[in-house]
Amino acid sequence: MRKNIVAGNWKMNCDLPQTQSLITDLKTGLVKEFNCELMIAPSHPFLYNAFNSTCDTVIEVVSQNVCEAEKGAYTGEISVDMLQSIGIQTVIIGHSERRDTYGETDELLAAKTKAAIDKGMKVIFCCGEHLEERKAGNHFDTVTAQIEKGLFDLTAKEMEKVVVAYEPVWAIGTGETASPEQAQEMHAHLRSFIESKFGKDTAINTSILYGGSVKPANAAEIFAKPDVDGGLVGGASLDAQSFLDIANAF
Ligand code: 13P
Repeated sequence: MRKNIVAGNWKMNCDLPQTQSLITDLKTGLVKEFNCELMIAPSHPFLYNAFNSTCDTVIEVVSQNVCEAEKGAYTGEISVDMLQSIGIQTVIIGHSERRDTYGETDELLAAKTKAAIDKGMKVIFCCGEHLEERKAGNHFDTVTAQIEKGLFDLTAKEMEKVVVAYEPVWAIGTGETASPEQAQEMHAHLRSFIESKFGKDTAINTSILYGGSVKPANAAEIFAKPDVDGGLVGGASLDAQSFLDIANAF
């Protein structure tokens, strides 16, 4: 059965002392069991330190990005092997900030996904429409095209390694959240689209996270929806108490 997950995407925030202090605060708050898996994605320079500080806890440290190539002349990139050599087993791929600011195409994201999964990593694959696409009523088509191009070359077995994150771009960092009904509608749509390609078992077992201005005040309502299996949290994950309160919403 699919897992509930609350993942904190720290983006390009926190230097080393801030990373360490946020992790210390998170560990201090781990006083009870959560009904979800907890993941955090600090910046690349601090992954090793973060992994070592959390490896005796329930928190999994994940990467915000990875290169599609195995090794070589790719200045500034980070490979799957490098991540795995420091204990990282999960990577976020296809965040809208990577798509929009760094021009990562569907084809590149499919290659990154394949590279990670070929070596046994798990992938949190992001999708989501822009405001204009929603206003034009194209949000379902936009998001299913992202999923089709990014994931449909995988086998059903490989798809077991994928968590989908639906992040409407208009809700990221804006304070504007998709309503629980809008999230549910898209998540149900995504699940049936996944079923059309990979079958019912895979669809039922795929966790689909919602991202976009998730905070303690709205998490419970969103997570209560049947096809919402957790959250990919940006801003609110930079405060330990808020992040744990969101995880407690399950
Ligand atoms: P916010 O929670 O800050 O809106 O960011 C969401 C996000 O982009 C997580 O990946």
